[in-house]
Amino acid sequence: MTTAIYPGSFDPVTLGHLNIIKRAAACFDRLIVCVMVNSSKTGMFTPQERVELLRRSTQRFPNVTVDQSNQLLAAYARAQGAQVVVKGLRAVSDYEQEVQMAVINRKLNPGLETMFLASSEKYTYLSSTIVKEMARYGADLEEFIPCEIVDDVNRRMGEMQRKER
Ligand code: ADP
Repeated sequence: MTTAIYPGSFDPVTLGHLNIIKRAAACFDRLIVCVMVNSSKTGMFTPQERVELLRRSTQRFPNVTVDQSNQLLAAYARAQGAQVVVKGLRAVSDYEQEVQMAVINRKLNPGLETMFLASSEKYTYLSSTIVKEMARYGADLEEFIPCEIVDDVNRRMGEMQRKER
């Protein structure tokens, strides 16, 4: 059985992420989508909330599970018995850092391969940062994030803006 991990911040999950999840879930027996917790970064959603939004958005994929971790990815993969890390590549700008990470992860865990999926062209421009910008200006988010989480993102942005005032 091949287990793959798709790590990221997912703050929040976008349709670009979901496209990678759907395609990776078709390639591997089991896919673990893992919110990697970076304590130096505070996001729009807490790691636990991101997990909940991801679970809601990926319910229709029976071989996908969602988790969070503050371990090094190489160690987390070993603990899960995973052989593959999946990464999405949007543009050349993603490439350099991703290749560096892939090499380091394989040094730390020689049984771990990183596989890159090219972003579908309609999502190459999409990032969680762009989604937050759009939400800030009240844009319609249906085109960018799973419909199951649109209300959560708009609600949280409203709360953040009220706090800023
Ligand atoms: P971001 O905050 O930039 O959206 P994440 O850390 O949540 O990024 O991304 C996790 C993984 O998903 C990374 O491998 C990233 O390259 C990939 N990814 C992010 N957005 C997209 C997209 N629109 N299309 C394909 N892959 C993506």
